[in-house]
Amino acid sequence: MRYGIFSDVHANLEALEAVLEAYQSEAIDKYICAGDLVGYGADPDECVAKLKTLGISVVAGNHDWASVNFFSEENFNPLARQALAWTKTCLKEKSRDYLESLKLVFQDEGLTVVHSSLYKPQDFGYILNDYDARDTFGLLETNLCFIGHTHVPGVYIKDMLDNVFYKEDSVVTLQKYDTYIINAGSVGQPRDGNPDACFCVYDTEKNMVHFKRVKYNVCQAREKIIARGLPEYLGDRLLTGK
Ligand code: ZN
Repeated sequence: MRYGIFSDVHANLEALEAVLEAYQSEAIDKYICAGDLVGYGADPDECVAKLKTLGISVVAGNHDWASVNFFSEENFNPLARQALAWTKTCLKEKSRDYLESLKLVFQDEGLTVVHSSLYKPQDFGYILNDYDARDTFGLLETNLCFIGHTHVPGVYIKDMLDNVFYKEDSVVTLQKYDTYIINAGSVGQPRDGNPDACFCVYDTEKNMVHFKRVKYNVCQAREKIIARGLPEYLGDRLLTGK
């Protein structure tokens, strides 16, 4: 089985289309998105519609929930709040219904997906270090968990002796007795200094996860953000991936 797993699309249609096209040569059996379909970007409805047609499994992100009033905007910084207000005004009813239907946690055979953390997932806390990762490791019922939220691809590994390590390798070979929290990075707003859209391929037979990057039309995505009257910074940051 080959999973296509990605996160944090953030209404960036150009990036989403580039990722879905790149997946065409990956023989993917099943797609999963770790949340934040909307927020920041110019095409929330189009991104929701595109993912709906794929019939993929999606968990709710903080921006998804905030856009349907399931999560308070008080948790957002002023720029995110501005983008949220705009997103709310333009979301069509069928997109809203879809976002309202999203659950916080998805579990498949041997695989868990949550946007932020398994510890109070409705609070959308960040896993930023080994200490944060331990809460989720403690609650995990599978050996593998995919997350998003920070927009920085990376892997937390817990070994048999309970040591936790962090790695940013682009290929991860899963060892039988280790447990993994894999941050899939971000399709539509990478923040690791690489502006290319990020996505993962998980091969259950080879026990391998590959992080992949694909270039997309960043300039067009930026121009659309500015043309919609969204904060310019949200367009500019796409150029540098920060
Ligand atoms: Zn996000």
